[in-house]
Amino acid sequence: MSKNTKGTELKAFRGELLHFLADPSKVEESESYQFFKDGLLVVKDGFVERIGDAETLLTNLPSDLHVTHYKTGLIIPGFIDTHVHYPQTEMIASYGEQLLEWLENYTFPTERAFSDEQHGKRVAEFFLSQLLDAGTTTALVFGTVHKESVDAFFSVAEKKKLRMICGKVLMDRNCPDYLSDTADSGYEDSKALIEKWHKRDRLQYAITPRFAPTSSKAQLDRAGELLSEYPDVYMQTHLSENQDEIKWVSELFPESENYLDVYDQSKLLGRRSIFAHGVHLQDDECDRLGATESALSFCPSSNLFLGSGLFNLNQAREHGVNVSFGSDIGAGTTFSMLSTISEGYKTQQLRGDKLSPYQSFYLATLGGAVALDLEGIIGNFLPGNEADFIVLDTHATPLMSRRIGHCKSLTEKLFILSMLGDERHVAATYIMGQKVEEN
Ligand SMILES: [Zn+2]
Repeated sequence: MSKNTKGTELKAFRGELLHFLADPSKVEESESYQFFKDGLLVVKDGFVERIGDAETLLTNLPSDLHVTHYKTGLIIPGFIDTHVHYPQTEMIASYGEQLLEWLENYTFPTERAFSDEQHGKRVAEFFLSQLLDAGTTTALVFGTVHKESVDAFFSVAEKKKLRMICGKVLMDRNCPDYLSDTADSGYEDSKALIEKWHKRDRLQYAITPRFAPTSSKAQLDRAGELLSEYPDVYMQTHLSENQDEIKWVSELFPESENYLDVYDQSKLLGRRSIFAHGVHLQDDECDRLGATESALSFCPSSNLFLGSGLFNLNQAREHGVNVSFGSDIGAGTTFSMLSTISEGYKTQQLRGDKLSPYQSFYLATLGGAVALDLEGIIGNFLPGNEADFIVLDTHATPLMSRRIGHCKSLTEKLFILSMLGDERHVAATYIMGQKVEEN
């Protein structure tokens, strides 16, 4: 690296370089991205300084500039996971149930242990190292009902200098007593956590009602009140994941027009509201999501694992809804966004629809940033963005290496990476321009 007299730190990364500038479903696909066959990413003090063709840029940069050259690497922005539960890390791959029984039999007993902050820290440490190994640099994360679970998560994420969003679950009915808060205690605890953590370093807070069945109307209203007091915090919850769940919601909230309307009536929709799943939405719900600039998190590995259904990506697009990808650990079966894309592609195939490689890599990077209202900060390599990025290596495994030998185009390369790829193909993860070292 090169340090000038003002103490600024300049370094550069060379290799194939790809990032998105727009949603490929909204513009000509070829105009949605920038690709450099021999590219250079220049990072100054942890932020993107510029990108471009390596030979051209290098002529104008200091001759002692430290350049890390990835000869078989594809450099892209870090993946963004917009729906994941860190406390469910150790219950991944729990057999045999659909959503409501799965929550009761596996999730609630597992989440109980997070009243202990030290336990939370141990799990958060492992969870974050798994995310980083998979090339995910930002996530929107559920804690448990315990305040301690969020203190634990944020304190570990802060040490790692990560851009993370998390919140304490709100849950005041239809759950075990040991996991229950109240409308008032949920409000007060969330407020205290916002005051303590929101916008501290790169951390941000999300108000987190688990889902409509486990919150009273009073609790959802208090959550809406809190969101209006702190309009720049996030709201995350679940929506229309499973048919039995939807039926239950209509019984619990007979005065609501549909599932989304339960949240709408409590003023929980908006630019920083992210709804996980949305597998079985009516057109008027999609209209309302689009009109309020709310986002959906498409969680294909979880939707398949729990037998929830096939997310209708085209329906969301037609209604102008921001969509992104979620791993939904522990109902999801992988931390890897590459594997998640693969499950997403197969989901669309089962619907008779297509998910193009450009579209899926967009959703996993810039699309995630847009969903989180973080474009211009992360998600691509525009100058001034935080330099969280990864290096994908198509030669990390014999099968992909062999297949890539027959590859003729960038779109084919991206498709192969997402169909055959996983953590093994993430050669390096960088946070603010610093390489994450192996644990
Ligand atoms: Zn979830």
